[in-house]
Amino acid sequence: MDPIKDTTDNLDALVEDLVAGRRRFHELKALSAEDAATVRRRTLAKMKDASLEHIGSFSLDAERAATRHCENFMGVAQIPMGITGPIPILGEHVDEDEDIYVPLATTEGALIASISRGCRALREAGGAVVRVDDVGMTRAPVFRTGGVEETRRFTRWVTEHEAEIRAVVEGTSRFLKLENIRPQSFGSSVYLRFTFSSGDAMGMNMATIACDRAVHELIEPETGVTCVALSGNFCVDKKPSAINFLEGRGKRVFAEVVLDGNTLRQCLKSSASSMLEVQYRKNMLGSIAAGAMGFNAHYANVLAAFFIATGQDLAQVAEGAMGVTCVEARGPEGIFFSVFMPDLPLGAVGGGTVLETQREALEVLGITPRADNPGWASMRMAEILGATVLAGELSLMAAFTSGDLARAHERLGRGKERL
Ligand code: NAP
Repeated sequence: MDPIKDTTDNLDALVEDLVAGRRRFHELKALSAEDAATVRRRTLAKMKDASLEHIGSFSLDAERAATRHCENFMGVAQIPMGITGPIPILGEHVDEDEDIYVPLATTEGALIASISRGCRALREAGGAVVRVDDVGMTRAPVFRTGGVEETRRFTRWVTEHEAEIRAVVEGTSRFLKLENIRPQSFGSSVYLRFTFSSGDAMGMNMATIACDRAVHELIEPETGVTCVALSGNFCVDKKPSAINFLEGRGKRVFAEVVLDGNTLRQCLKSSASSMLEVQYRKNMLGSIAAGAMGFNAHYANVLAAFFIATGQDLAQVAEGAMGVTCVEARGPEGIFFSVFMPDLPLGAVGGGTVLETQREALEVLGITPRADNPGWASMRMAEILGATVLAGELSLMAAFTSGDLARAHERLGRGKERL
């Protein structure tokens, strides 16, 4: 890389080097993360005649961001964060009299106003009942055999040696526990779907590291069967899938409320009969017509805003948005309204939860891991998220019944500026 050294004294020369293509964005190793980011921004500004002033304004720990979260770090993408609530939650990891306020990060005007209206409906109804199952994090390596006979020998070996496999995988982390290994095979391919509980972490790194260790130190050498890929897509990470819908992944969340006619009319500008009809024609028939895996109005909206605010892996919204909304008549004017999310990967530690703004949002939510009760914080997170999704779903469904959807977006999402 000489003659120009990548040192702080030479930032201008480094920019020239990058612009001329003599050096690449990752070849700035001797600089601090902040100086390297400055060089990358100045290079881009020069090459593309762009101003990167806001990308370069940040308060986070650049060194950690650059080494743990984001290669070729050059700054930040800011997303507005708002607050909704309070949401009364009748759960198992939230006190009944707690005021839960939820930070959400989004660029969709009208979203937080709408969720807040749903929170008001939940308050008037006395709270959202929420229950969560900790299903566990999954990883499924795929192996190649010579055909069905070898497949049978291989899967029998795995079943008979589960204790040894457990010892290897659980040796990789204080918090990882093997729940089960589910084999699936056809042709000459075998998938071993490992399910782990992972304490307060979402667990995808932990599960991947553990599977890698088991495959390379034990399963391959002992069976002679080759692992073709550590993820065989039977896991299934970051994609909607039937197996995750049925068996669950991460947390499986149920949230529900009973609303009377008064709350439907006054708070949601709606009625039982119109909520039932929108549910039937939109969430049920419309989703069937589309071949959708989500029989709901917009779980993805609330998940994405919550995931950004709290440092979750945003790509997992792809699987988290599956689920079923139910609406049933209760009495002459009321309804029972529920959401079901079978596949919510989330964590209170690890990944993006250590970032500064995300840590602050977690503090607002009271989500702090308890040394004496690993897993408690991520269960609390899932309960709060379940109630927030319920609020968002209620309000959007009601907006369809009153014809408010376009009006609210026009008023709140557009502002005065025209594009
Ligand atoms: P992680 O960032 O790898 O951190 C988990 C670590 O936190 C554990 O290894 C554990 O340490 C420690 N820890 C401390 N207190 C804990 C507690 N109360 N409960 C559980 N763990 C605790 O976390 P992760 O959830 O496994 O992985 C999340 C990251 O994976 C995200 O950044 C995501 O984007 C990424 N990701 C990776 C893959 C992949 O294939 N590798 C796929 C999708 C997403 P010890 O192990 O020392 O006990």
